[in-house]
Amino acid sequence: MYFRSVQFYKHLILIAIALVVLASIGSCALLAVSNHQMKKVLKENGLALTGENAASFSPAKKQTEAQRLYYPASFDYQQLYPNLFIDNDYNYLPDQPHSVYLTFDDGPSSLTSQILDILKKYHIKATFFIVYNDSPEAQVLYKRMIAEGHTIGVHSTTHQYQTIYRSAGAFLDDFAQTALMLEQSTGVKPEIFRFPGGSINSYNKAVYPQIIAEMLRRGYTYYDWNVSADDATGGATRQQIYSNVINEVQKYDRSIVLLHDLSNKTDTASALPAIIDKLTEEGYSFYPLTKEVRPVAFNYID
Ligand SMILES: [Zn+2]
Repeated sequence: MYFRSVQFYKHLILIAIALVVLASIGSCALLAVSNHQMKKVLKENGLALTGENAASFSPAKKQTEAQRLYYPASFDYQQLYPNLFIDNDYNYLPDQPHSVYLTFDDGPSSLTSQILDILKKYHIKATFFIVYNDSPEAQVLYKRMIAEGHTIGVHSTTHQYQTIYRSAGAFLDDFAQTALMLEQSTGVKPEIFRFPGGSINSYNKAVYPQIIAEMLRRGYTYYDWNVSADDATGGATRQQIYSNVINEVQKYDRSIVLLHDLSNKTDTASALPAIIDKLTEEGYSFYPLTKEVRPVAFNYID
């Protein structure tokens, strides 16, 4: 019988070999055509299929979806402002018990010298987070702050949330102008800063991890607050500002107090002596922020 005969098996082997040969020739031809087409496309686009380019067509080089999510397209902002780095080779000081850090945002203004007078009278050092102002009057105030032992930190140049929080690069552009202006005015490089609106706010949800990481990488320390005088929006009376601060400070062993020294914050200035008197009476001490002071920062998961 033909099926089962030696001859049948011989034919079967020959057919198999023929099929393998035909398949190989066919796929070689297909590869040649596609290679030719690829070369044509590359040539049209001014490229050549060198070893390097050829390797980049490897599927292994493709970014996965997870990589695209976690790594932004570019870290170019890390190259911006190479002088914006602070020595971060230090340790935090031990926490001062019963400590209050008064901080004034958005100045300097015509009110600032009045606040400096009050602080001087009480021998208290505080912190000023500055909005860009390079007028001669402002420069006099910066020098006075340094001379009288206060700390100057960067707040913002434009204080416009939509501009600052567009990207990490936009934030650095804004930060750099005020940092440089303050260094030129006082000869002291600012080492700490406060984010306009706080480190995490409704304007920077998409970029705050990137901005915070970049600023920490550069050695800067930022301070949010755990006590607010609630004097930012208009309407708070002298008595309300006083109560807000006194009631809140009593909840913590160390308080970073948010106040403002814009020219219209006269109630803040007039509440200040009573706030200092009351807290001193209750055993609190006042200190300026420096980078060695352990920060108070909003929780990422809020
Ligand atoms: Zn502000």
